[in-house]
Amino acid sequence: MAEAPVEPGLAPLLAAACRAHGAAFGGAAVVLAAWAPGRVNLIGEHTDYNGGFVLPMALQLGTVLVGSPTQDGTISILTTSAEADEPHRVQFPAPRQGSPLSPGQPRWANYIKGVIQHYRGGPVPGFNAVIASDIPLGGGLSSSAALEVATYTFLQQLCPDDGDLVAKALACQKAEHTFASMPCGIMDQFISVMGKEGHALLIDCRSLDTVLVPLTDASLAVLITNSNVRHTLTGMARSRLGEEVYRRARHVVGEIARTAQAAKALQDRDYRTFGRLMVESHNSLSSACRGVLRKASQASVPGGAGMRQPITDDYEVSCPELDELVAAALEVNGVYGSRMTGGGFGGCTVTLLEAGAAERAQHYIQEKYSGTATFYLTKPASGAKVLPL
Ligand code: ADP
Ligand code: MG
Repeated sequence: MAEAPVEPGLAPLLAAACRAHGAAFGGAAVVLAAWAPGRVNLIGEHTDYNGGFVLPMALQLGTVLVGSPTQDGTISILTTSAEADEPHRVQFPAPRQGSPLSPGQPRWANYIKGVIQHYRGGPVPGFNAVIASDIPLGGGLSSSAALEVATYTFLQQLCPDDGDLVAKALACQKAEHTFASMPCGIMDQFISVMGKEGHALLIDCRSLDTVLVPLTDASLAVLITNSNVRHTLTGMARSRLGEEVYRRARHVVGEIARTAQAAKALQDRDYRTFGRLMVESHNSLSSACRGVLRKASQASVPGGAGMRQPITDDYEVSCPELDELVAAALEVNGVYGSRMTGGGFGGCTVTLLEAGAAERAQHYIQEKYSGTATFYLTKPASGAKVLPL
């Protein structure tokens, strides 16, 4: 975990966090700073907790944690971005032998408490910290893993562990399981820890083996579109369970095969094949709007021919907004493929396209979308790091 110079894009976030730290903690100077990225998953959805392949890349969007050690055994944390219904500050005693931390309110602090409790280099002393992030919260770009991994990376400076990266990712995942009650797979924490600039990361979620896949072609762009909607996970509890389970399993088996093929296609710079696989993935995950996708599949786009395959809707985790965004993206000349990304029920889509089409695509998608979209054009970034001050 070498110290690299702070990238220009990161400097404003770091500066804002340091200012907030001074204001919140009586002018105390920041002595430690860590950053961890969010991620976008290019393909391989709902396969990580099923022991399959995923192909995410780390984003230039991320979360910083800045702070300073204290002597009174108290941990005080301020976040500059929390859900609207939650306080931005929390304070609790550092865990001691026989008095472990436990989850509580505010909910956002549970991700941090979980990491502190499962940290492998403890006991963790008292500290003051400020969190600042440019990842949308709950938008499917994994602000939760970025928060966990930034916290862990911060603690590594406060009281070093053995530096094992896999164990770090697993401890952060365990924090999310046990303190945030979210039974997530390993993808988000893995990519936030192990991402590499200019690369996507193929992760075998069963063996935890990883392969870096270069993604530096200047003629190519990755466009993330935030639907800015979040639906709750209802409708999953259905009665016809036999058939449901069958179709869900069919998605997972197909998606694992697609992800392996997609990694190979990316390696070969075969973006048409990659785009076709993205659309197949989306259709397999889709809930509705078959008509919209059918129409899009007939459009003359680079991956067009391959998109005319049966739509199976095996996982039903998309929603009309995501389907709309994908359909609109597929109508733009120069788009190779597009799909929902993340858990589903809202959040973001990811689109692979010619760099020269990025501007046009954003205008067209916004024009077609019934809601208000937010766009992020991002390159594959590095995993978590210590920031120089
Ligand atoms: P995602 O990981 O896709 O953004 P999650 O629902 O898994 O969505 O995680 C979002 C939650 O993580 C937020 O509701 C909040 O509790 C917590 N969180 C993430 N980043 C921050 C942050 N910078 N400050 C406070 N809470 C955060
Ligand atoms: Mg999350």
